[in-house]
Amino acid sequence: MTKKIVVFDSTLRDGAQGEEISYSVEDKWKIVEALDELGVDYIEAGNPGSNPKDLEFFHQIKENKLKHAKLVAFGSTRRMGKQVEDDANIQSLLNANTSTVAIFGKSWDFHVKNVIKTSLKENLEMIKESVSFFKKKGKEVIFDAEHFFDGVKSNPKFAFETLRAAVESGTDWLVLCETNGGAFPREVYEITKKVAKQFSVAIGIHCHNDGGMAVANTIMAVEAGATQIQGTFIGFGERCGNANLSTIIPNLQIKKGYECIPVNQMPRLTSTARYVAEVSNVALDTRMPYVGKSAFAHKGGMHVDGVIKVASSFEHLKPEKVGNERRFLMSEISGRSTILKKIQKIFPKLQKESPETQSIIDRLKELEHKGFQFEAAECSFELMVRKHLGKYKPFFQVENFTIIDEQPLQKGGISSSAIIKVNVDGKQEITAAEGDGPVNALDRALRKALEVFYPELTEMHLTDFKVRVLNPEEATAARVRVLIESTDGKDIWTTVGVSTDIIEASCIALVDSIEYKLLKDIEMKFKAFM
Ligand SMILES: [Zn+2]
Repeated sequence: MTKKIVVFDSTLRDGAQGEEISYSVEDKWKIVEALDELGVDYIEAGNPGSNPKDLEFFHQIKENKLKHAKLVAFGSTRRMGKQVEDDANIQSLLNANTSTVAIFGKSWDFHVKNVIKTSLKENLEMIKESVSFFKKKGKEVIFDAEHFFDGVKSNPKFAFETLRAAVESGTDWLVLCETNGGAFPREVYEITKKVAKQFSVAIGIHCHNDGGMAVANTIMAVEAGATQIQGTFIGFGERCGNANLSTIIPNLQIKKGYECIPVNQMPRLTSTARYVAEVSNVALDTRMPYVGKSAFAHKGGMHVDGVIKVASSFEHLKPEKVGNERRFLMSEISGRSTILKKIQKIFPKLQKESPETQSIIDRLKELEHKGFQFEAAECSFELMVRKHLGKYKPFFQVENFTIIDEQPLQKGGISSSAIIKVNVDGKQEITAAEGDGPVNALDRALRKALEVFYPELTEMHLTDFKVRVLNPEEATAARVRVLIESTDGKDIWTTVGVSTDIIEASCIALVDSIEYKLLKDIEMKFKAFM
């Protein structure tokens, strides 16, 4: 029988402690819903005692109707020298409206002596009283043994006593925390094994990634008997982050035969990861295992050739299993077969020998020579192929635009305005918009003008903007290449523009980006109709 591994996501608590990550209450609900939909079992949503935003979130929980996941409020054991009933943090945890609470206590003697500065005995009392308090109140308790692995290395007797204190007080889970993230897989395996031998309570594992080992450490703990994996969905967290659940889940489920999420949900893995990144306002690492944009991208001629013949020659699993897709990257080092594959995605009938194929390849070379690079901007390539073969009717035309640069205001923010005139089937629209810099102003003005004709454009926005100067030795004549990444919350796509003028290069990439969105939506509708 498949062994169930309980998935505990802490994106909204430990993840929110990552640099540059901050969630509004609305963002939190969006992520909760996405993780619930995927089939995550527990979602740690914050520390109600530590900040008012988290408190507000927990006050909204009453009405929550999640399909599967349980929400968890997080907090510490009671403060030293206090009665558990009088501890404000314990009270806010109790009032957080969750049936499950995660409470962390110290299990490393070094921390007890040097950080919270109390006796080992008092620390054990703090654990016992806090766990018993919540058990008496009818809560499910997840006890996080903070710094457990460092604790075992320093004073194993005491570290195990902290677990015993929690177990004797009725904890439902013992979570072993690799808080400083420096342990190695074998240590984690051996220590977890010892815990599993001594206690019959269910064990969880919580690893940080400071040594780049959080995923490996988590998997080793599962092999040693842990049945709950804690992490953050795309690895956010303090310092180098937490164990990345979007990597661990498919590793355990597809490779190791455990069940982490319902089998039929696995193809949602990639879109969930991208959605979490989107709500977090972070560009997902393209090289992230399983879910990254490059996870199944092939570039070298031999690799491409191999994958076309037998996908498994250079792929560890089929991308569709995790909802990702295979990509063949175009560049001078990739062969003709890569380009043909791309072309056939749009025009399946074209062959290697077709004159159109040769003509597209010639055009591609010409554009690459000018500085275009389609490897990271396949959508621009797709549009180029369609246009080149005369099979494309643009959705709109930019007739002209003007950018007015203003001095940055003292209060910050707006520094440019753009006025743009577009034409859609003979109808003109003129709009103006302000923005943080000229490209932002242009993007806003363009979309504002086009939303009149295409309301679906409200869903889309830019997520990344990269500029590269191509031949700096030519000083003012230098060309710039602009890569723009856009999203509509469902997909991410990249387009490219090249010019001697940065605004013009940006405009080319922006127009492609919008054209691609409109084309994609029409094709989706057409497919649904078929
Ligand atoms: Zn942590």
